[in-house]
Amino acid sequence: MKARILGILRQMTPPDGGPDVVTRSLVSDIFIADGKAFFSLTVPAAAAERFEPFCRQIEAEVVKLDGISKAMVALTAEKTAGAPGARNSAPPPPRQPAPAPARQPGSVKPGIPGIERIIAVASGKGGVGKSTTAVNLALGLAALGLSVGLLDADVYGPSVPRLLGLKDKPKSAGGRTIIPLEAFGLKAMSMGLMVDEDTPMIWRGPMVMSALTQMLREVEWGPLDVLVVDMPPGTGDAQLTMAQQVPLAGAVIVSTPQDLALIDARKGLAMFKKVDVPVLGIVENMSYFVAPDTGKRYDIFGHGGARAEAERLGVPFLGEVPIEMAIRESSDAGRPVVASEPDGPHAAVYRDIAAKVLGGLEDSRPKSDAPRIVFE
Ligand code: ADP
Repeated sequence: MKARILGILRQMTPPDGGPDVVTRSLVSDIFIADGKAFFSLTVPAAAAERFEPFCRQIEAEVVKLDGISKAMVALTAEKTAGAPGARNSAPPPPRQPAPAPARQPGSVKPGIPGIERIIAVASGKGGVGKSTTAVNLALGLAALGLSVGLLDADVYGPSVPRLLGLKDKPKSAGGRTIIPLEAFGLKAMSMGLMVDEDTPMIWRGPMVMSALTQMLREVEWGPLDVLVVDMPPGTGDAQLTMAQQVPLAGAVIVSTPQDLALIDARKGLAMFKKVDVPVLGIVENMSYFVAPDTGKRYDIFGHGGARAEAERLGVPFLGEVPIEMAIRESSDAGRPVVASEPDGPHAAVYRDIAAKVLGGLEDSRPKSDAPRIVFE
């Protein structure tokens, strides 16, 4: 199928009138899963506007192929202004066809140099505490002695800057890469920090996927043991594409105990299954409430649903986080509870969750240290 797509691309004349995009090595790896094809074109920043309609034309052609129900072509804009090694001044040699090891469909993900493992924190719907969990899980992993990064991929409602109290814009290193910000010992990047005209990246609404790719590949993350990705909530196409594009070692699903949220959480499980990403487990957030004056515990939403659900679905239950003023206040003040009250009970809960996540990662780790470049 990839060869057929490349065949189509070879026959299409780019808007700048130059040779076809395959010959010029502008095409990324082509990812195909579930009848959906995704790839990106890397073009000079100045030409991005002109290439946008071309991407739509490519999609229209590719979707005509038997077996392809949807095609998504994203533009990745290269900054070229005299940067040494910029792609248009020194085109890389055409990609060699690599031998294709036996592999289940769905995961075509070159790893990110310098990042050992990437995990996603996802939820079936918004407002369940996904970002709060992602931040405190990242801090919990750091407290276990790992070097940890946090990537806020929630393009629609990026909250990591608020949760970590980040205000500065990330700086660019030589116009080519971005230096992540640091907070509480984490390296952090957020789509929310990038949406500014002065940014060294081209960033536009329709370019969500290429923005994500840039945040993964053009940020100086490494060396990191774990990068935690705060996914956009929900299980729609955008989330599926992200889950498919990011070379994920595993996913954590955050749910509240309400049944409705659990139904949504099940959709999250199904989504990661589709793209062959192991689900490391479910976190039940806002699980119960302990009255500060009496110490009495109230299971406001009915308690234990997520644990039972996890058991039924055969995924690990990672832990329950109470609904707690201290968690909300510290989050919203940019002082996440694991960092601001490391000796308190909530930090312990998150560290425990982090330890379970880490255990799950070790279990699902490939036995060989060979580069994880895989093909469908
Ligand atoms: P999501 O990423 O799922 O949209 P957030 O992490 O932004 O959710 O959380 C939504 C709101 O709920 C925030 O104000 C946050 O501080 C609060 N919150 C999250 N988890 C808890 C908790 N365990 N206890 C109290 N408040 C919480």
